[in-house]
Formats: sequence, structure tokens, C-alpha cells
Amino acid sequence: MHDADPPTDPRREDRILAEVDAARDEIVAFTAEMIRIPTVNPPGEVYRECAELIARRLETTGLAVEYVEAEGRPEHTAEHPRVNVVGRGAALPGGPRLHLNGHFDVVPPGEGWTVDPFAGAVRDGRIYGRGASDMKSGIAAAVFAVEALRRAGVELAGALDISATVDEESGGFAGVAHLCKAGIISSDDTRYAIIPEPFGPARVCLGHRGVYWFDVIAHGHAAHGSMSHLGRSAIDDMGTLLEAFRTRLAPELATRLSALPVVPEPSRRPSLNVNTVTGGQAGGGATQSPCVADRCVATLDRRFIPEESFDEVRAEIARLVASVEDDDPERRFTIEERMVVHPTSAPPGSPLVAALSRGVETVVGHPAELVASPGTYDQKHFARIAGIEHCVAYGPGPLEEAHQPDESCAVEDLVACTQVLALAALELVGPA
Ligand SMILES: [Zn+2]
Repeated sequence: MHDADPPTDPRREDRILAEVDAARDEIVAFTAEMIRIPTVNPPGEVYRECAELIARRLETTGLAVEYVEAEGRPEHTAEHPRVNVVGRGAALPGGPRLHLNGHFDVVPPGEGWTVDPFAGAVRDGRIYGRGASDMKSGIAAAVFAVEALRRAGVELAGALDISATVDEESGGFAGVAHLCKAGIISSDDTRYAIIPEPFGPARVCLGHRGVYWFDVIAHGHAAHGSMSHLGRSAIDDMGTLLEAFRTRLAPELATRLSALPVVPEPSRRPSLNVNTVTGGQAGGGATQSPCVADRCVATLDRRFIPEESFDEVRAEIARLVASVEDDDPERRFTIEERMVVHPTSAPPGSPLVAALSRGVETVVGHPAELVASPGTYDQKHFARIAGIEHCVAYGPGPLEEAHQPDESCAVEDLVACTQVLALAALELVGPA
């Protein structure tokens, strides 16, 4: 449709930025349209409708679109099908590919809203609704970054792919992990990946900490509650153990500090949280019978930093549990593992980080702040399953508003992030 641009054309960048700016109303409208589809997870509502909306938009942008259902995953059911959508751009032979991925599931709205969480209202320069920040605005930014390059008539040496996926909020197993396992996202053909999670227009997120979820089970001995001396309370033993975690392990964890720039700052240190404790007879208004609890289960959430090896994290827990057990010959605990996610981060000197940083300087006017996330997101699957180590998060929306009532995203931030993504994409997959 036009002659290829010369390799360095200062006007090309301006043209791309102008195309994004001109598409401002379309970007906002597309974000609002996605918010109006309540893709609440759990349980995973109306995924297909949202996938179809995004697919139509990707087709308009000229991508070859494919739906990928999470066949074989137990959560992929007739009532709640897990439907992902992938759009692939055409590349010149051997050209690098950049993959932009966003999740379109949202957490339930919860209490405390002053606006309809699924109306996609725009007021005073902000889009409101569940997913406005985390991360339907991010999907819109990815789509319109690619669209702006097309409208600006830029021909690329490589290609841009976009996927919109499900279930990030519940671990991403039927979403990004499924696409990676199926080889649809793979380092065989994809060099870079950007996930537009909400870190805002001036922050590039290099990666995230690790997670170790496990249960500790205290094993007691049941007896009549009126003769409790004949039993052994698993709840009491759990109390002793939790106290040991608090007074012996927590201070040790507080002495460790990661070099990874995790925000907020206190999350640069590892942590241990007790997510749940259940013991004895279930409460909640049920009629109680007098029993000594013979079983108590605590689910613990250990967040670890890249400087800690997972083997040592696990061994440290096991040693503490064994030592509390040794204090009393009658005391007995077992440990059951639930989930491990290893820390991940883009390699130092990644061209992906450099390209996004340059885009931030051009659009926002100052250098990007490099951060890392305290919690995990789909980057783990790109790195661990697909083998794409050059993966980061960069996208619109205030992180602090994710999962909150009255979640919103500033239109200015949405536009700025779209511009940065477009400039970074151009740098990474190059003009033809
Ligand atoms: Zn998210």
C-alpha cells in the first residue's frame, strides 16, 4: 500500500504516536465493551462472548485468529468453557516475533462499588468497572498498539502476535499455560513477550517473586470435651507451631532482602502468611458436640525471593516443623505441598526492557522505573513452559486499584501505554 520506510525515519515515530492519539475514542470504547462482558472468575463466566469480541477486533487489525479451548483441563466444562483467542501477524521469513498477552478474566466485583462494575462508564477522564485496570485496558492497549502500526503504514521485518486468555486470576492453567504447553506460544518462533498488566505508563515490571503454598496438618487424638485430658488437641499443637513460625521464622525472613526491585518496598523481603486454619468440628452455626480436635490443617503461603533456593525454602520449613515436633514426643505434624511457582525475571540487559524504557522516555518524558511484582502472574508460564525469558509486564492502570471496588483506569494512561507499546514493538520487530 506504500513504499517501505527507510530504517531511520524520525517522522515514522510521530506518525505512530498520532495514530494512537487519533484512536483514543476507539480504545476507550473497546475497553468499555470488554468491561460490559462480566467475565467473572471464579467460576469463569461468559468467556466465549468476550473471546469473540476480541477476535473480531483482532481480525480487523489483520491478524489470523484462532480460538483455543482448554481441552483436557478439568475446569473447561460445558457450562464454563475456557476459551482463549490468539491472533497471529504475518512475518517476513526469519523476522523476530513479539507476543502481547492479556487475560480477560476478572475477579468478582465484591462490595463497596459506587458505580455499576459492568457498565464501563467513562467519567472525568477515567474508565470505570471491574477489569478497567486488571486488565481489559491492557488488552485494548496491546490491540491498538498493533493497529496504530498498521494505520501508520509501517511494514515490519518481524511480526506481532496477540493472545487474550482466561483464568490468570486462578493460576492461568487453562489460559497461558495451556497455550504454552500446546506449543502455540513457544520460544521456537517467539523472541519477546509483553503482558500489559497494570503497572502504569512509567513502570516496567521485570518479573515476580516465588510462591510456595503448603498445608501443615497437626494430628491429635479425639476425646470427649469434658475429659479433654484423655485426648490431644490438634488445635493446640497447631497454635504452638504457628507461634514458632511467627517468633522464629518470621524474624529470620525479615533479615533477607532481594536485589529484585519488588514494589511495594516491604515485599523485597520474603514472607510467610497463614492463609487458613481449620480444625475440629466445622463451625458456622452447626450444632456443636464436645470433642477434642484430632486434626487441624493450616494452609501457609511462603513468598520467596530469587536469592533463596526453593530447596532451602522447603527444607527450612521442614526443619522448623520437626523441631517443634521434637519438643514434645506426642506431637505430630505432616506437610503436604499444594503449589510452587518459581521466581522469574527478564535477564539483565534484555533488549525488551531497553525498548520499553526508550518508549517510556519518548512518551512520558522521563526514564522508566524498573520494578518487580510481589505476586505472580502469567510471566511464569512464558518463562518456564514456553522458554521465553525476554518477558515483562508493561501496561495501563493503577496496580493499587486491581481487585478493588470502583476500579478504574485514566484514559491518558491508556493512551500513553498504547503509544509506548507501539514504539517498543516497532523497535523489537523492526521496520522492514
Ligand atoms: Zn491481572
